[in-house]
Formats: sequence, C-alpha cells, structure tokens
Amino acid sequence: MNISLESDIKNLKGVGPKRAECYNKLSVHTVKDLIYHFPRGYIDLTSSTPIKDTIIGEVYAIAGRITKKLPPARIRKGMTLFKAVFTDDEEDLTITIYNSEYLFNSFSEGEPVVLYGKISGNLVRKEMSSPLVFKIGASNQMQPVYPITEGLTQALVRVTVKNALSLINNRIYEPMPKDILKRMGLCSLAYALYNIHFPPDEYSMQTAKKRLVFDELLTLGLGMLLLKGRNREKTPNKLYDQNISEFYKAIPFDLTSCQYRAVNECIEDMKKDRPMNRLLQGDVGSGKTVVAAAISYFVYKNKKQTALMAPTEILASQHYETLKGFLEPLGVRVGLLIGSVSAKERKKINEGIISGEIDVVIGTQTLYQQSVEFYDLALVITDEQHRFGVEQRASLSKKGENPHILVMSATPIPRTLALMIYGDLDISVLDELPRGRKKVITYAVTGKLRKRAFGFIKGELDKGRQAYIVCPMIEDNEQGLKSVKSYANELSQNEFSGYSLGLLHGKMKPKEKDNIMLRFKSGEISVLVSTTVVEVGVDVANATVILIENSERFGLSQLHQLRGRVGRGSESSYCILVTDNPTEDCKKRLKIMCRISDGFELSREDLKMRGPGDFFGSAQHGLPKLKIADMSEDIEILKKAQAEAKRIYESDPELLNPENKGLRSLIKELFERRSD
Ligand code: ADP
Ligand code: MG
Repeated sequence: MNISLESDIKNLKGVGPKRAECYNKLSVHTVKDLIYHFPRGYIDLTSSTPIKDTIIGEVYAIAGRITKKLPPARIRKGMTLFKAVFTDDEEDLTITIYNSEYLFNSFSEGEPVVLYGKISGNLVRKEMSSPLVFKIGASNQMQPVYPITEGLTQALVRVTVKNALSLINNRIYEPMPKDILKRMGLCSLAYALYNIHFPPDEYSMQTAKKRLVFDELLTLGLGMLLLKGRNREKTPNKLYDQNISEFYKAIPFDLTSCQYRAVNECIEDMKKDRPMNRLLQGDVGSGKTVVAAAISYFVYKNKKQTALMAPTEILASQHYETLKGFLEPLGVRVGLLIGSVSAKERKKINEGIISGEIDVVIGTQTLYQQSVEFYDLALVITDEQHRFGVEQRASLSKKGENPHILVMSATPIPRTLALMIYGDLDISVLDELPRGRKKVITYAVTGKLRKRAFGFIKGELDKGRQAYIVCPMIEDNEQGLKSVKSYANELSQNEFSGYSLGLLHGKMKPKEKDNIMLRFKSGEISVLVSTTVVEVGVDVANATVILIENSERFGLSQLHQLRGRVGRGSESSYCILVTDNPTEDCKKRLKIMCRISDGFELSREDLKMRGPGDFFGSAQHGLPKLKIADMSEDIEILKKAQAEAKRIYESDPELLNPENKGLRSLIKELFERRSD
C-alpha cells in the first residue's frame, strides 16, 4: 500500500483499529497528524544521575544494568507485577513493571540500559515504577517522550513515528519560500520533521524546533493580517469631524492624556472610509468606559447609532447607568436591552432602535444573537473582549453595514503578544491610571487570621465604606470548600451580624443579580458576598476592601481582576488573600500579588509561572491552537515571524504569488484546526 501524508494511520504497520482509536484520542488521525505529534520532551541518555544522588518523587535518567529479573507475581486477576533489580554499580534500585510481559522480556540480565522515570520507595530501598527503558548504544542520545494515552506506550509511538517518517521522508513538500529560509537561517521542513522526533543531539533538536516554531508563528501572524484585511472592505459609515468639547465639559473629571489619545485615535479611524477595527487595552480601573462614552458621543453627533455589548447583564446595566449619566444631559438617548427586561419594555426599546429614537444601546450578547434591527448602526463596542474569539469579532461586523468596531480588554499582555493575538486589530493602550489612584495594599494570610481580617473589614465598614468577600464555589463540595450560600449565611449570623450583606452568584436570575448590584451600588448593602461573577468590570468606588477566599484557586491575572474591584476611588484600598493550606507554589504566587500592582508586570509573571497554555488557551482568545510555539518563550522568533508576515502581506496581500502557495495552505490548515 502506498502511504501518503493523508493516509489513515490504520494503514501503518502495527496500528490496528484499537490502537488507531487511542491515536484518535490524541487528535491523530492521519500519517501527517502523527508526524506532527511532537514529543513533549526528550530524555538525554548521556546525562544520567547516580542513584545515590536521586531524590524521591523526582524524575531521572539513570544508566546501569539489570542484574536480576525476579519471577513475575500475579497479584490479582489481570494484574501481574514484573520486578527486576537494577544497579549503577554503586547502589541498587528495584524496578516494577505492571502487566507488560512484552516489555519485561525485551531486556535481559546484564544488559546495559538507561531507565527513565520517577523515583519512589524509601531511603532504604529506592524504586522506579513503570520506567521507560532504553538500550544503550541506541544511535540517538536524545530520546523523544510523547504525549500518550492509555493503550499506547512510548516505545510503540516511537516505532510508529519512525516508520511513518521513513515511508514519506523524501516526499515532504517545502512550503516556505526559499528566500525566507535563507534570510532566517532555517533548516528544511524535511530535516525539521525528522529531527524534532529523532535528534542525534541537542543542537539538531533546537534547529528543528526553531524551524517548526517559526512556521507556526509566521502562519498565525500572516493569517491574522489576512483576517484584518478581509474585514476592511469599504464602509458606508465614514464619519465627519465634530466638536465634542461639550462632552469633555459635562463629565466630572479630566481625561488622562492616554484617554484623550485613545479617543482621538478612534475618531481618526472612523473618519476613514474603511471601518475601524481597534482594540482598547487598559488595566483594570484605567477608565475604558469613558473612552467608549466619548466616541459614542462623536457617533451621535454624526447622527448615527452605537451599540455596546458587555459579557454579563450586571456589566451591561452598569454601563447603561454610567453612559446615561454622561450622555443624557447632552441629549443622547441611551437604551438598555438585556434578557431580563419585560417583553413590553423590550418591544419599546426594539422599536426605538429601529426608528432611530435610541442613539446608544447597551446590551449583552443577545444584542447580536437576536434579530435586533438598527436604524443606522455605525459603531459596535464590546467590553472585556477576551471572552470573545476571532470569529466572534468577525461576526460583529455583520451587524449593521460594516460598522466601526472597538473592543475593550482588561487583559494586559505585552505588546509583542498583543500584536499576535489581536493581529487583526489596531491597538490603543491606556497605560496610565487616573490621577489620585493609590496602590491597593495587598495581604496574603492563612485561615488562622480570618477573624482578624473580618475585624479589619468591619473597621472599614464603620468608616462608611463597603466590601467584597469572594468565595469561589456555588455548591458545597467534597473538598470542603464552602458554598457561597452557606458561607454568606454564616457570616451574616456571626461575624457580620448587624451589617447588611448581599449575596451574588452566577446561578441567580439576572433580575435578582441586578437588584443586588443596584443595592450594593447605592450603599444599601455594605458587604457583597459573591462568586467570581464580580470579576470583570464592576465599578463601585466606595468599596475599599476585598477579601478573597481560596485564593489558591486563582491565577495571577484573575486575582488582579478581582483586586481591581477596589482602589477605584481616592481612598486607600485593601485586598486580603486567604488560603488555608498554601503550597510553596501558591505562596510564591500570592507574594507576587502583594508586591506587584501593575497588570502588565503581573501578566508577565503569570506567563512565567503557569506557562502560556492557560493564558493563551484558544478558549480564551479564539486563536488557533499552537502545537509547538510557545508565545511567551519564543519571543525572538515571534518578532521575526511577525516582521516576515508583515513583509509578505505588504508585497502579496492575497498570497497569489506561486511561491506563497505553500503558506496559503499552511494558514488554511492552522485556522481550520481551531474548529475541532
Ligand atoms: P475600566 O478600564 O476598568 O473599565 P472604568 O471605566 O470602570 O475602568 O473606570 C474606573 C473608574 O475610574 C470609574 O469610576 C471612572 O469614573 C473613573 N475614571 C475614569 N477616568 C477617569 C479620570 N480621567 N479621572 C478620574 N476618574 C476616572
Ligand atoms: Mg470596565
């Protein structure tokens, strides 16, 4: 049978229907998928650790030999233990293999091997369970370790990949234009694909990796640029210069210089005959809402409509109140359209939107899902957009007639990364907080100090301030985490009896949530006990303290968002992070929170600690899943790939040159991968 890249893996030797299913679980369906199933790491057979230097619980490669194979022990039906003694001539180790007679028989007594695995046992007798066993003398010093699932072993995958590579090796098509390979000093794709799996040494592995990372980042960068171009067909919503100084006079504060700059950048965009496609990026509390208000006013002066979309009803209601406050005195008619308004009310608002009586409408995603018709929609603003992906961004422009788009995000990410993630957008940054803001003083405490923390909160309440208490769970659960309901009950009966408490969680009806938020905003409720629904965007300037239970459950960026609920006025504000049994890792994280208040700096730390998987998960950004590139580590390649992408895009915006044909198919593949 003639094997090609597109062949089903079932056609490979040793892959029957059952194993094929295991591979499918890893998203490996074709020979090509298998070849692009890259190792998650390598074992360097030349750097082995003596047994005496190993620590229990850590993973090592250890060179030595099997001295004695013990008779197999059948411990119960279907479970046989194979044990052997291994020595590095200084100390012994027991290895245990479960059930795999095949593996056990594949090495013999006295044969030199390298073991790889986690050390267990005790100080008297160290052990290694289910180690990987490599025969010494294998030509490669670097052994690949693959992501696998049950039913597959490292050895199996290795053999199958090797076989696949040898079957198609001389038929790997080179998609990259030659001059780029030359300029970037990159190896061929065929070399890269072989050496990413079976590098003879570290250098070959790095060379291969660099090539594959570059391919992926260039493809992504170029794809984003193409998207950007595609969304820029002409718009009938070209707007004209307006005097908006009355807006600046009407609001209760002066804009910061970066807020002015952002407003002007948007206005300049909207005066062009292609639609604006802009990201407004600013840390929590940097004042994005007023920028949205200012440009809605500009649109209003052009006699056109603006729609603002928020991720939750709470936020939509809040924006509604804020924008109404800024804009209604200037004659702008502002409307709110959320699921929880009555049918009658909704009908009225809908009519207002169609007839053009409403100038600015604020809502949740329902604004776009339902068949809301606009009279003359020129601007679409979405808030906290990290919850929307590339596709959603694209779908927004389908409302109205190619309207201008502004997305606002409070996820601070370094500029190089933003360029990649939001490559389809232009970027405005609010990099300065309004004057008079103070750093939120942050403490990390264990549960033992909870009582004192509550005392501190009461002190703030007695000064007329308000507080948030965040408790992550809704339901009681087996790990002993408290349900927010029983937790709030307890607080109101004990610690906070005599204070007015409100409860907010995601399972409440939108109307109930709104009601609680309004009562908190008005000051009627002084302590808001909540799940993370308060995470994004809620703005109550009189709240000066936030206590976060189980703070170990959050990443730095999320803690930062939560902390951003306070410190929004001119009073000193506090954040208390509570954990009951902090691990070392958690202590480290909380220390960083206490030290750093800048969102950008925190996101860099977050990246370092958690790795980009969490942060750049496609779920969050709607980006295609990357197989090998790591956007936080491969910064240098990222920059170069970005520059190359730009160069290619400028010289051949539709990728019609024959030499760019390969790139075109790479882009198609990458962006299609996202959908499965
Ligand atoms: P975010 O960027 O997190 O959405 P908001 O728009 O909610 O921030 O603004 C946070 C708070 O700062 C609001 O209470 C807002 O009224 C206030 N604010 C915004 N800009 C300024 C400014 N230039 N001077 C003083 N206060 C401001
Ligand atoms: Mg906001």
